[in-house]
Amino acid sequence: MKKHIRLLIAGMTALVMLAAASSSYVVKRGDTLSDIARELDTTVAAIAEANGISNPNRIYVGQELIIPGSNAYIVQPGDTLQKVARKTGTTVAVLAEANGITNPNLLYVGTQLQLMVPTHTFQVDTGSATTHVVQAGDTLGGLAARYQTTVSSIVELNRIANPNLIRIGATLVVDGGGWLCPVLGGTFFNDWGFPRSGGRFHEGNDIFAARGTPIVAPVSGTLLQVVGNIGGYQFNLEGDDGNLYIGSHMDRFAKDGYVQAGDTIGYIGDSGNALGSRPHLHFEIHADRENPVNPYPTLADACG
Ligand SMILES: [Zn+2]
Repeated sequence: MKKHIRLLIAGMTALVMLAAASSSYVVKRGDTLSDIARELDTTVAAIAEANGISNPNRIYVGQELIIPGSNAYIVQPGDTLQKVARKTGTTVAVLAEANGITNPNLLYVGTQLQLMVPTHTFQVDTGSATTHVVQAGDTLGGLAARYQTTVSSIVELNRIANPNLIRIGATLVVDGGGWLCPVLGGTFFNDWGFPRSGGRFHEGNDIFAARGTPIVAPVSGTLLQVVGNIGGYQFNLEGDDGNLYIGSHMDRFAKDGYVQAGDTIGYIGDSGNALGSRPHLHFEIHADRENPVNPYPTLADACG
C-alpha cells in the first residue's frame, strides 16, 4: 500500500540559518548564568563569550543576553516580527515560514518561535484519490458530501452516464478522498508549539466549531475510545495510512472499532481539561504512530 506521506526537504537556507541562529533572553530576578544556560540548552562559556561577559557571576535584572546557537525565542512584550528578526539574526520571511505566520502583525507575548525553517515538514498527502464500493442506499450526493467532493467530479472521474443510476457493488473512484477534513466548517490556525502550563507546549492544533458539530474520521482505521481527566472524551485512531490521529475534548462518542474515512466518530465539545472553554477538537497527528507533528499543513490542505 502506498504510504501517503510526503517529506519536503528544505534547501540550503535551513543549514545557513542553523549556523547563524541565536536567540536573546532578558535576565529575571534570581537568574544565574548557569540556570539560563541549562534552560536554553547552551553553556555558560558560550553565553559569556557572545556577550563579552568577563565575570559570569555579574549579570543584572533586565539585561538582554544574546543566546548563541539556540533555535527558540520567546516573544517578549513590545516585540514585532521585525524586532525578533533583528535580535536573532534572521529575517521576517524565515520567521513567518518557520512558524506558519500568515499575519506578521499578530504576535502573542509568550509564544515560542522557531528561528529556522524546519528541515523536515510533515504533511499527509490529502490529494490522493480513494475508491468506494457502492452500498445499498448510496447516492452520488451522499458520497460527494461524505468524501468532501462534488457530484460532478465523481460523475466525470467515473464517466457515469446517468447520475441517478449507480450500481450496488460498483467501485467508484473518488477524487480528493485520500484524507478528509475532520471538522468541516471548523476554524483553526497554526497554534502548534504555543506554551502550556508546566513547561509543556501545544502538540496539536485546536479546531473550533459549534458544540455538537460532527467529527469525521480523516482516514480509515481502528478507533479506540479513551476517557480521561485531560482529554475528556478522546479518540485514538490508528489510521490505515500508518499514522496515529488523536482528538480530544469531544462532547460524546459516535463510533468505535473499525471505521471508514468519513464516518462520524464523535461531536465537538469541551470535555476534560477544556471544560468551560470555547468548544473545540484538540487534534494531533503522530507520524508513523510515533512523534507528534504539526497538523497545520495537512489541515490547511484538507479543510481549506
Ligand atoms: Zn489543543
